[in-house]
Amino acid sequence: MDAVMDAVLIAEHLTKHYRIRRGLSGHGLVKALNDVSFSLDAGKTLAVVGESGCGKSTLARQLTMIETPTSGRVLIDGRDITQADRAQRALLRRRIQIIFQNPFASLNPRKTVKATLSEPLVVNTSFNAQQRAARIEAAMQTVGLRPEYMQRYPHMFSGGQRQRIAIARAMILEPGIVVADEPVSALDVSIQAQILNLLMDLQERFGTSYVFITHNLAVARHIAHTIIVMYLGGIVESGDTKSLFERPRHPYTRALISAAPVIGAAQRTNKTRLQGELPSPLNLPSGCAFHQRCPYAVERCRRETPLLRNVAQRYVACHRAEELNDA
Ligand code: SF4
Repeated sequence: MDAVMDAVLIAEHLTKHYRIRRGLSGHGLVKALNDVSFSLDAGKTLAVVGESGCGKSTLARQLTMIETPTSGRVLIDGRDITQADRAQRALLRRRIQIIFQNPFASLNPRKTVKATLSEPLVVNTSFNAQQRAARIEAAMQTVGLRPEYMQRYPHMFSGGQRQRIAIARAMILEPGIVVADEPVSALDVSIQAQILNLLMDLQERFGTSYVFITHNLAVARHIAHTIIVMYLGGIVESGDTKSLFERPRHPYTRALISAAPVIGAAQRTNKTRLQGELPSPLNLPSGCAFHQRCPYAVERCRRETPLLRNVAQRYVACHRAEELNDA
């Protein structure tokens, strides 16, 4: 995919393989992420969708420097984080933050909200105690929490409030880019919309860019400007949200949309049923990784890996994309 001039985040051929022990003497290679490239523009949201095990969270860990990719590059504001020295990485870390799925697990139960929100300020800024307290108060107000609650512990809050604390922690350094890894899937449905609206409000106020990881297509459709669809560690389709939902081109995207309760989208496309289990990333299928589950597979699909290519203003990795376009 071409890098966009005002992209704040670019992934180029990002690959992550994990070596694991197999049996008594052998080793295996888990190919969790394979040659993933995309760009994210300032103030926009890119959703990453796919079944669990498709590499979404592995991608999140490479982007946020929790792990180092096996190969490929990640550029933040044009600077390659994979080549940055310790001091540069510390600065780049301020630019990109992560919100995890489960606020129950991601917040330390022994720390007050004030202590939790102080931590990134102590590590990354030279603020004195008074400046930190002022920033914490402002951050709590920004996410809709009362500053007088800053001495409380996580168990004294509801699930939605806890996720607001996690969002405040991610936003307190004014990062510019936030990777949100399934940020609403652990919450009650009634609370999910509130958190999504909060994230959208923050984007409008601060121009934050999001990589929004979700298995929920309705959520992706609601929040994202562009979408990448991942299957077994690779991108199979990407494009702008509206056109991708109205006319999905890859059989896997069609199957995901057909299976999801998205009003008005699946009804307009031919239904493609998702069959079988996701193959193991320890033993990727030959050719197209989706061929064992694809109702349109032909002999070529078993032999040749389809490249991600431009098909009618979309990027699609399917040998039969043009043929299936009007099917
Ligand atoms: Fe299906 Fe073949 Fe396209 Fe893969 S390349 S999605 S198996 S038609």
